[in-house]
Amino acid sequence: MTSRGWLRVVGIGPGPAQWITPEVQAVLTEASDVFGYHSYLDRLAPVGRQELHPSDNGQELQRARRALELALGGARVAIVSGGDPGVFAMAAAVFEVLERAPAAWRALDISVLPGVTAMLAAAARLGAPLGNDFCAINLSDNLKPWSVIATRLRLAAQADFAIALYNPRSRARPDQLQHAFELLRSERPERGAQTWVAFARAVGRPDEDLSITTLAAADPDRVDMRTLVLIGATGTRCIERPNGQPWLYCPRHIDEVR
Ligand code: SAH
Repeated sequence: MTSRGWLRVVGIGPGPAQWITPEVQAVLTEASDVFGYHSYLDRLAPVGRQELHPSDNGQELQRARRALELALGGARVAIVSGGDPGVFAMAAAVFEVLERAPAAWRALDISVLPGVTAMLAAAARLGAPLGNDFCAINLSDNLKPWSVIATRLRLAAQADFAIALYNPRSRARPDQLQHAFELLRSERPERGAQTWVAFARAVGRPDEDLSITTLAAADPDRVDMRTLVLIGATGTRCIERPNGQPWLYCPRHIDEVR
């Protein structure tokens, strides 16, 4: 099978247009069709006769299949995620569909183009909290059991990673962040007051809000779906500034832990 169509799985970063890479911008200009969650498509500048295909959250596999089908039919298709398309986003959904699809679909010209993921944008605003080893955990149990999340949180705390929590809290899942904090406190009972926690909300947007607290004092009610929660490691340090907005960073060297 040969088709002149293509599929580009792209990330448009967490917020402003200047965080969209030139490579992704070029694809968004060339595409005949653009798929994505409607609030991501709302962020894009309209291009000529391009057709937009907005859909709701939670329809990732259908969206991926429709995009693949259109590209197989010869269209130039972009499928858009916020941040990076490989981080808790559409690229995995595309490959999930492709793996089960007829073998002929694998000849399609597909590529995944990177974007700035929320964790990196938040870290840059805060200073350098990911300057040493870290991990990222999606706190949503929509697609995996809570027991898996709890195990990963526990082991990440034991390994003393800095931890980035994506999808920390939503109206449908109001209590899980509280459970996560309790679990982390029980893993680090002696360090709760010294473990730094940052809430980075709407990074790169006009309503951006950064706050820094400790694991002992962290209040989950201050967090919503537009927030990236960053839990510091033992080595994470805080530098106070006169403007009241401290820098958080994790030094390059690590002393013996425990
Ligand atoms: N693919 C995206 C992540 C999708 S999961 C990426 O790479 O960034 C959605 C989660 O990302 C949100 O619940 C939030 O935790 C985080 N997020 C996305 N944009 C954000 C922003 N501008 N500020 C803070 N967190 C953000």
